[in-house]
Amino acid sequence: MRSYSLLASAKINLYLEIIGARPDGYHDLAMVLQSIDLVDQIDLCQLETNTIYLHCSHPEVPQDESNLAYKAAALMAEKFPDAFTKYGGVDITIHKRIPVGAGLAGGSTNAAAVLVGLNLMWELGLDQKQLQYLGSLLGSDVPFCIVGGTMLATGRGEYLTPLPPIDNFYVVLAKYRSLSVSTAWAYQTYRHQYLRSNVSNTSATGHPNLQAYSGKIVSAIARQNQMQIYQLLHNDLERVVLPIYPQVQQLREEFQSLGCPGIMSGSGPTVFALTKSPTQAQQVVEALSAAIPDPDLDMWVSQGTNSSIRVLSFEN
Ligand code: ATP
Repeated sequence: MRSYSLLASAKINLYLEIIGARPDGYHDLAMVLQSIDLVDQIDLCQLETNTIYLHCSHPEVPQDESNLAYKAAALMAEKFPDAFTKYGGVDITIHKRIPVGAGLAGGSTNAAAVLVGLNLMWELGLDQKQLQYLGSLLGSDVPFCIVGGTMLATGRGEYLTPLPPIDNFYVVLAKYRSLSVSTAWAYQTYRHQYLRSNVSNTSATGHPNLQAYSGKIVSAIARQNQMQIYQLLHNDLERVVLPIYPQVQQLREEFQSLGCPGIMSGSGPTVFALTKSPTQAQQVVEALSAAIPDPDLDMWVSQGTNSSIRVLSFEN
């Protein structure tokens, strides 16, 4: 039986700007997305029956049809019924290392790995664009997770423009284990509080970010100006998440006081900061654990990566 093991990278948002509300309930965004080498492992094993099974030992990850990785396999079975019949179903095991509900696109990258893996297992020959289209049917971050690297994402997040890879940088991530933020809640609250009036009328909300300002960070990335990139990190969703989650605000302030400004990734509650060396990253981790000696606080040191889904091993 065929089997594939894939590694699926988490992402961070170096920049997240909400341009406006869309009638379909989504938002027009300008984001700079970056893959990092914090990965889940996804094992796919071919089955003789036309069934999809999913296993994950993480208590917060659903093991039923609501899992995004399961949905990805079901979508492939629906779109390619001949291949599903010919090759049979699939048994999916998720080895979870990316924190759940953390703003790091854990579910989206698992779904991307299943699309990439089944494309290989079922010998479909789909190209990146076709996989990204299928990904867009599952969630706004999935098209990015198919390709990864450093990207400008617009629309709902599905229109992707590759940016030059940022040279050697390290990421310190911090998250309270018991804390998670619903992405849907964060966007709905933002819409309710800041986007109720005409989005072109900036004075009505007093919100200065109703036009895309991502150009500044994009040109800093193009010029490889790391100092400027660090200064231009931005996330509009902090406006709604920080007042409700004081622990996230405190994390942000601690990073700041260490001279290493941190921002929230996606809808949080993970806060990250960038450093130039692994030594500096480790020093930040140590200083942060001394400043907040809370056993509920998890921290990781990771590195930017230019890919998202990688095949670790396979048997045909
Ligand atoms: P995003 O940044 O894409 O909004 P996130 O990183 O904030 O996502 P996820 O880790 O994807 O959040 O989890 C969000 C919710 O999705 C979880 O509460 C979990 O119940 C559900 N979920 C469904 N499938 C998965 C999966 N494969 N991995 C993790 N969570 C999943």
